[in-house]
Amino acid sequence: MNITPLDVPGYEKVARAEDPETGLVAFIAVHNTALGPALGGMRLWNYRSEDSAQWDVLRLARGMTFKSAVARTGLGGGKSVILADPADKSERLFEAMGRFVDTFKGMYITAEDVNVGVADLMAVKKQTAHVTGLPQEVGGSGNPSPYTARGTFVGIQATVQAAFGSADLDGRVVALQGAGSVGFVVGQMLKEQGAKLYVSDVNLENVERAREELGAEIVEPADIYGVECDVYSPNALGATLNDKTIPNLKCKVVAGAANNQLEDEDRHAAMLKGRGILYAPDYVINAGGIINVSLELQPGGYDEPAACLKIDNIGQALTSVYETAKREDITTHAAAQEVAEAVLAEVSTAQGPDSDSHEAGTTA
Ligand code: NAD
Repeated sequence: MNITPLDVPGYEKVARAEDPETGLVAFIAVHNTALGPALGGMRLWNYRSEDSAQWDVLRLARGMTFKSAVARTGLGGGKSVILADPADKSERLFEAMGRFVDTFKGMYITAEDVNVGVADLMAVKKQTAHVTGLPQEVGGSGNPSPYTARGTFVGIQATVQAAFGSADLDGRVVALQGAGSVGFVVGQMLKEQGAKLYVSDVNLENVERAREELGAEIVEPADIYGVECDVYSPNALGATLNDKTIPNLKCKVVAGAANNQLEDEDRHAAMLKGRGILYAPDYVINAGGIINVSLELQPGGYDEPAACLKIDNIGQALTSVYETAKREDITTHAAAQEVAEAVLAEVSTAQGPDSDSHEAGTTA
C-alpha cells in the first residue's frame, strides 16, 4: 500500500492511501486531537474527483472537532473517505482500509458513516483495533441512530423552551422532513408528548409508516418548508436551509438531526436570526450518536445508562448556546462555534504551551 502524507495547514495529519492489490483509494484526515483521539466515521462515496474527496474529508474532520468539543466527549475530530462505487464494496477493500487506519496508531478512530455499515467495520476490525460502532454482542455500542434521536428530541425540548418559555410539546405542531432511522424515532417521541406531526419523505414505505404509526399528516417533499408550524425538524438531507427555503419557513424553531443543514453557515444562520427563527446548531443537537460511541472508549467499556445521561446533556449544551447568542447578539451558529473554541482553549491552557500534544487513546 502506498501512503502519502499531505501537508494541510490547520490539520494535524492527513494522508492518502492507494493499494493496487485491492483498488483502495482513500484519505484520512485528523483535524485536532487536543481533547482526545480523533473519532469520526468512514464514508464511502463515488466522488467526482480526488479533489472533491479531499475537500469532503477535510470539512467533515473539522466538523467533528467542533461536534465533540461541544458534546464534551473527550475526543478530537477526524474522518476518512474511500473513493469507490458502493456496488464495488468488498471485504478485501475494507481490510485494506483497516490497514490504513492502523497506520495512524490510534490517533484516528473510525466508525460508520454513509455507505459503510457494521459488516464493513467488522472487516476493518480484522486489521486494526481502532474501530468503534460495532454490534453490542461484540462489546460495541450498536446502531447510533436511536441515540441520535434521543439527543435530537431533548434538543427540540430545550429549543422550544428557549423560544416559547415552556418545553411542553403538547399541542405543538412539528413539520418533520425525513422519517428514516432518526426522524421516525424523533417522531415517536414527539407523538408521545402530544405533538401534532406533518411529515414528508421520498421513501414510500417510510411515508406509510409515518402515517400509520405517528398519525402524521403527509405533505409533498417540496411543501414541508411552508407548513404552518412551531418547529421545522430537518432529518433527511444537508443544505435544506438556503436562500429558497428560509423565506418560506412558517416556524419559530428549526431543530433536527440532519448534518450540515445551513447551505452557507454564516449567511443562512444570519437569515434565520433575521426572521426571528431559533436555529438549533446541527452539530450540537445531533451529537447523540457520537456521544454514544465515545462511551466504548471508556476504561470500563460501553455503558448504556452512562451514555444516555450524557446524551441528555445536549439540552443543557443548547441552552448555553442560546444564552451566549442572546447575550452577544450573535447567531446560534456563531455561539456554538464560540462554545467549541472555548472548550478547545480550556485544554490548551491546561496543557500549557510547551506540553506534548495529546497521546492518542488515553482520555476518551
Ligand atoms: P436515513 O437514511 O435512515 O433517513 C433519512 C430519511 O430522509 C429517509 O427516510 C429518506 O427517504 C428521507 N429523505 C431523503 N430525501 C428526502 C427529501 N428530499 N425529502 C424528505 N425526505 C427525504 O438517515 P438517518 O440515519 O435517519 O439520518 C438522517 C439525517 O441525520 C442525515 O442528515 C444524517 O447525516 C444525520 N445524522 C444521523 C445520525 C445517525 O446516528 N443516524 C447521526 C448524526 C447525524
